[in-house]
Order: sequence, then structure tokens, then C-alpha cells
Amino acid sequence: MDHWSESEGKRSHDPIFQTKLNCRQHVEDFCKKRADAVATSTGRCIWVPGPIVVGAGPSGLAVAACLKEKGVDSLILERSNCIASLWQLKTYDRLSLHLPRQFCELPLMPFPTDYPIYPSKEEFVLYLEEYAARFGICPTYNHEVVCAEYDEKLLIWRVRTQATDRMGEVVYMSRWLVAATGENAEVVQPEIDGLKEFKGTVLHTSEYKSGLAFAGKRVLVVGCGNSGMEVCLDLCNSGAQPHIVVRDTVHILPREMLGKSTFGLSMWLLNWLPVHMVDLILLFVAWIKFGDTAQLGLKRPTIGPLELKSLSGKTPVLDVGTFAKIRSGNIKVRPDIKQISGRQVEFLDRQTEDFDAIVLATGYKSNVPFWLKDRELFSEKDGLPRKAFPNGWKGGRGLYSVGFTRRGLMGTSADARRIAHDIEQQLSAEGKHPDVLL
Ligand SMILES: Cc1cc2nc3c(=O)[nH]c(=O)nc-3n(C[C@H](O)[C@H](O)[C@H](O)COP(=O)(O)OP(=O)(O)OC[C@H]3O[C@@H](n4cnc5c(N)ncnc54)[C@H](O)[C@@H]3O)c2cc1C
Repeated sequence: MDHWSESEGKRSHDPIFQTKLNCRQHVEDFCKKRADAVATSTGRCIWVPGPIVVGAGPSGLAVAACLKEKGVDSLILERSNCIASLWQLKTYDRLSLHLPRQFCELPLMPFPTDYPIYPSKEEFVLYLEEYAARFGICPTYNHEVVCAEYDEKLLIWRVRTQATDRMGEVVYMSRWLVAATGENAEVVQPEIDGLKEFKGTVLHTSEYKSGLAFAGKRVLVVGCGNSGMEVCLDLCNSGAQPHIVVRDTVHILPREMLGKSTFGLSMWLLNWLPVHMVDLILLFVAWIKFGDTAQLGLKRPTIGPLELKSLSGKTPVLDVGTFAKIRSGNIKVRPDIKQISGRQVEFLDRQTEDFDAIVLATGYKSNVPFWLKDRELFSEKDGLPRKAFPNGWKGGRGLYSVGFTRRGLMGTSADARRIAHDIEQQLSAEGKHPDVLL
């Protein structure tokens, strides 16, 4: 018996695990029945008594759970075929949470105590699946919201979906609409002269799984955020020859400082010191650990890492080992690309080099402006709330946003709790006991 089947065998005799399985089975049966009911509905126009939540990522699940705790059932519309599609379908194999688990748990359910400080993506997804099961959350999958607008006459939101399965187009209607489509809904494709004609492989980090496919190959990674840096490390460990394009300045910090997570330490210091003082401490420790990163092509911004994050949303890189590979010359740092011709890439310093593949670590953007026909809560420019955290969670006419705070899952939890409380207050003020949806 191998380890897996052995532990499976043990689990099948474990009464707690059996109860969990039964509970999950019950939720899955319920979800299937509801999906079938929706699929056989002939009207193609469906009234939803509770809030409609767009997106079944961690934010959509968090708000649905907080609502459920208050007795309010919601309907989640999700374009893909699973919860947390970003994590399940669009991330690389070696990914773990970038931040320690205590800053990433969703409301009402902590991570299992035996989880590591930085849970792997599999562990995080398992946690989210248990979370959905615990709160009886069953999203309606394969339903992409293509338009949501407020009907001024009926005082309701009309949410039009394009279903990728047998349903075709359906319009859902509700008093409340919660946008939970995330800051990472669509990939950002850079404009690079000659990129479309590149003769090797081009992929975005959302399609990158592992460096094994690139062993022995020369790979150019464009972008030096957390994903770009980690993909370079993965490529290097898999026997590829990675080069990284650093177009801009970047703050690189050790993931741990003084025996604590850098993020946790920063949060703690912020209780006592102003941001610029904490930034000075972070930069001092980073300097001791890395020296002058500019000498290796990683020039630091003039503003400190935390101040920069709050002003522009740009996240510092928390190093997981890439810097050592840069220092040893296993990963080469390159300036911005001037142009590409065939397999040859010319950089701004006029040097040229041939590559087999290009990985675009150029990030993501919100897609809210494409589907939400309301310009008050969200800005058309970047698809994020116009008001900064903590004031961007609520718009007018029953519209809410969750998970657009540039503060990761901590911001999500704060938004989700506020939204659930607000909707419950409205129902209480109307003297209504929240109904259970469907
Ligand atoms: C590599 C990586 C590592 C990260 N690590 C951390 C970390 O350690 N800690 C942390 O706090 N944050 C981390 N983040 C940020 C992370 O994205 C978020 O914290 C988290 O996934 C946000 O959840 P969300 O539900 O808001 O958005 P998402 O996870 O993006 O979920 C949004 C959902 O909405 C769906 N959707 C989008 N458009 C539509 C539409 N029109 N109709 C229907 N459905 C739609 C999507 O399919 C998706 O399932 C990381 C991000 C990346 C990319």
C-alpha cells in the first residue's frame, strides 16, 4: 500500500472524516439539484431573493459565507467550472501563499492548525473547498456575467450571463449585486515590438505550470514582481537558463526578517511607528541581507516599500531564493526590451540574445468596467473602487465590492463582513427575516 492509499484507507475509517465527506456529499447533491433546476427553467429570467455575487474566488466565497451566517442566502455566478479558478487553473505548481496563513484566512473559519505557515496552493484550495462545503455554498458555474445594470424603474439589478454550457443567455435579477471578480480577472499583455512574430514559445504566467518543460532552454521572463521572480527560480531549478527583464525599479525584501515573516513584522511595527520609519527598518534589514541590489540591475524606487504599496498598489517582492541565483549569475538581469525579431531579443542597452521561450510575468487587471454598467463605485480606468480602503466596499443602490482593496485576502475579509452586516441591517430595518434562497 503506498502512502496515499494508506492514508486514504485510514481516512475512510475515521468518523470525523466520514462526517466531513457526508456533509460535502450532501452539499454536492444539493448543488446538483439546484443546477438542474436552473438548467430546466424555461424563463431565462430568474428572480434571486438574496444578493447576486459575481465570482467564486475567495472573495465571493467569503461574502457568501458571511451572508449565510446571518441567514441570508446568495447566488454566486462564476464563469469557470470551479471555485477559486485563479488558484486552481492559472497558477504554477510550486506556488504557496506569499503571505503567512494568519493573514490569508477567510472569515469564520481558520486554517487547520496542522497547516504550514505558507500553505501550498493545493492546501489553500482544499481549505476553500472545505469552506464552501461548511457554509453550503454552491456557485452556479460556467456562467460569465457579461452585463450588469440597474433598472431605475423596477429598482433592481439585471445581471446578464453568457453560459458556456447548455443554458445560453440568462438574466438574473436582484436588489443587491456584489462584484467579486477580483483584481486579477484578466491578464495584462504588454506591447512589445515583434512579440507577436516571436519564433519561440510565448506564454503568460497564468499558463506557466513548471520549469520542467523548459529544461536546457533559454527563457526570458518579462516582469519582476513576485510571480516573475519565482518563475525564474523555478526555471533555474529545472535546468533552464532564465533571464529576467527588469523594466522598472523594484523593492526586493527577504520573506523573513529577524525570525519573523516580513509582512507580519511590518504589520506589528506599524502599530507603533509611522510608515516611513517602518520602511527605513525594512530597507536597512534588506540592505544587510542583499547589499546594494542596484549593482545587480535591481534598482530600488525612491519611495519605501510600504509607502509605495499604499500609494500605487505595487507590491514588494518577498524573496524565496531568486536573489541568490541572481547574485550567483544563474539568473541574468536584463533591461527593458527594445524589439524582437525571430528568436532574437534586443534590449535597451543594445545587447542582443536568442531565446527559446518568453514568459510574460506582466500581471493582471480587473474586468469590472467590461461588465458593470455603473461608474460610481468603480473607476473605468483601472476597474478598482474609486474610494481607497476601507471606503470602497459600498456603492449606491445595493451595489457592493469585495476583494478590490489591494490588500489581498485581509482586505477581502474586512469587505465581506461589512457587506453582510449592511445587508442584514437593511433587512432588519424592513422587519424582514432573511429568507433562504431557493
Ligand atoms: C500568484 C499569486 C499569489 C498570490 N498570493 C497571495 C497571498 O499569499 N495572499 C493574499 O492575500 N493574496 C495573494 N494573491 C492575491 C490573490 O489573487 C487574492 O488574494 C485572491 O485570489 C483574491 O480573490 P478574489 O476572489 O478577489 O479574486 P480571484 O481569486 O481572482 O477570483 C475571482 C473569480 O471571479 C471569476 N470571474 C471573473 N470575471 C467574471 C465574470 N465576468 N463573470 C463570472 N465570474 C467571473 C473568476 O473566474 C474567478 O474565479 C496572490 C495572487 C497571485 C496571482
